[in-house]
Amino acid sequence: MARKLVAANWKMNGSVSGNAELAARVVEGVASLASEVVLCVPFPYLVQVGSLLEHSRIGLGAQDLSEHEAGAYTGEVSAAMLKDVGCSHVVVGHSERRKYHGESDAVVLAKVRRAQAAGLVPIVCVGESREQREAGDTERVVLGQLEAVFGGLDDAAARRLVLAYEPIWAIGTGLAATPEMAQAVHASIRGALRARVGDEADDLPLLYGGSVNADNAQALFAMPDIDGALVGGASLDAEAFVSICIAVSGR
Ligand code: PEP
Repeated sequence: MARKLVAANWKMNGSVSGNAELAARVVEGVASLASEVVLCVPFPYLVQVGSLLEHSRIGLGAQDLSEHEAGAYTGEVSAAMLKDVGCSHVVVGHSERRKYHGESDAVVLAKVRRAQAAGLVPIVCVGESREQREAGDTERVVLGQLEAVFGGLDDAAARRLVLAYEPIWAIGTGLAATPEMAQAVHASIRGALRARVGDEADDLPLLYGGSVNADNAQALFAMPDIDGALVGGASLDAEAFVSICIAVSGR
């Protein structure tokens, strides 16, 4: 059975005082659970949240990283820096990065390689727009994004990915994919993974992201190929986020 993982994507939210309360409540709420939990927080708060998570079972993640190793790239943050401040994970290729920052599949691959070279686990996001879904293009788009990453990795590196299916139309809209819709895409992703890494594909967590909340989490996690979630809005509410973590653990 695949590892279970719930990752929070705080996006551009947080404050020193608010983070302290939110992180403390999440640490307490998930203390006895078996599933993996990771908080992906804005760069300025990595050190603060990292210290709040010390001695907890929760991992620290960033939301992006530079495709470059080091040097004259003003404003960028390298994989080595993320590792240095205690990150275990980093989100790569989120649709908001692809859309607002023009991140191509090639840039996503470069970032995945940088992350892995530094010892970070990339949480790689793939997903289709509403227009692409309506045109019947979902599988082609999602598997194309996946192949663009697989194509640049050797088998060992392909086994060290966490993949997140995030239909763009479901992100932040309150309109989650139905469990059946999400499962259909997850099954295709699992098939592509199996073709690439064999039976080990069954152990790798495939996350769903897009308006996951305390009410819909259980039905999503009941699907055979949905092993966890990447959670945006609901991760800012400790009670809702902990409920989602409990739902994945109780599957
Ligand atoms: C996300 O930010 O990746 C996300 C899935 O957001 P939300 O849960 O708010 O839809």
